[in-house]
Amino acid sequence: MKHAVKRIAALLLTALLICPCLMPAALAESPAESAPAATEAPEAKATMTPAELQAQGILTVGAKGDDVTRLQQRLKDLGYLSGKVDGQFGGGTKRAVIAFQRRNKLDTDGVAGQETQARLYADDALAAPGEEKTDVLAGELPMLVNKDHVVDEFFTPADLVLVNTVIKKDLATVKYKKTRGVKAAVEALKTMLEAAKADGVGKKWQIAAGYRSWDDQNNMLNAKIKSYKSKNKGWSSSRARRAALRSVAEPGASEHHLGLAFDVNRKGSSTFAGTKNSEWLNEHCWEYGFIIRYQKEKEEITGFVAEPWHIRYVGVEHAMYMKEHNLCLEEYLQGIEDGTIVLNGSAENAAEAAGEAGEEEEPENPEEPEVPEEDPDAADDMGEPDDMGEPDDMEEPDDMGEPEDADAA
Ligand SMILES: [Zn+2]
Repeated sequence: MKHAVKRIAALLLTALLICPCLMPAALAESPAESAPAATEAPEAKATMTPAELQAQGILTVGAKGDDVTRLQQRLKDLGYLSGKVDGQFGGGTKRAVIAFQRRNKLDTDGVAGQETQARLYADDALAAPGEEKTDVLAGELPMLVNKDHVVDEFFTPADLVLVNTVIKKDLATVKYKKTRGVKAAVEALKTMLEAAKADGVGKKWQIAAGYRSWDDQNNMLNAKIKSYKSKNKGWSSSRARRAALRSVAEPGASEHHLGLAFDVNRKGSSTFAGTKNSEWLNEHCWEYGFIIRYQKEKEEITGFVAEPWHIRYVGVEHAMYMKEHNLCLEEYLQGIEDGTIVLNGSAENAAEAAGEAGEEEEPENPEEPEVPEEDPDAADDMGEPDDMGEPDDMEEPDDMGEPEDADAA
């Protein structure tokens, strides 16, 4: 048993180390991942038809009739179902059931069994939140999204705009015309690209990804699972899901949900690192309020391998501080919480005061190279946790190092 737990932990760690922007996170508490372990007769469900299950009061995809109509109506009344009430349990109904289950802390298997229905028809069943949009730039601190800080499926940033209405072709190619981002961040991106152009690095920029909804991420994950299953006959759903989670983030855990993160690369180039564009971005994005979110020497903290193309808007003051002190977002926010970093312009003073008191500026990381970007290889052995299981079993995600495919959905 202990061994099994350790092995699961190792698998989770394995998954975490792969491709941040697609998979930023999320394994440990993924209820969907453990979906097959439903509370309602899982073995029976695997072999029985929807009609047979329905006869036992369990509603699943394929069920139809009055009890489905009643279920749909209730889901609609509570704000989970946007489609029509037609008495046919299809994909939309399943999604609504999952959303209801997640919000009501039930197993998220998309099956309306006894427990789910009891909760659903109870007077105190939790309704879906309304169409509330989140101002992701509100507040003093940059909002954190990672495996431990996930957003729910109702999360929508305020102020989203189409990137290609702000950034024209002379500055960059927007790979997908529907790509959106939060207006202030897209405008900062434009300013940054104008500066790059003025510096003579104006060619071949491409914006490959921006805002991603919870559904987008969910679809990406499902597409990846499907692809694994079709390539590997005989794989179980849970095995395909585990494999997919190595390269695609669990919905809710992708920083792209904020509308403040963009995948920026060089058009036609299969790798971004090492290009003129990448070097410029690494050196200058901070001045325009962006951070290189996942850096090599911070992999153990962020949980993701380096992604030189994934930038995140946090505002100039925060970005410059993180650059100057070589901090990733997790470290920066922790420093503020600890009081070792003080906001509102007094951050430098606090750091100096800490220095005078005989402390390192970054006491939590005294061995970090001060200027790692000049010698990235110096940060060796960032590697795998000691107890990482079976590295031979690891698969490289298809899109590793290929930012062109960064949002392959
Ligand atoms: Zn990304």
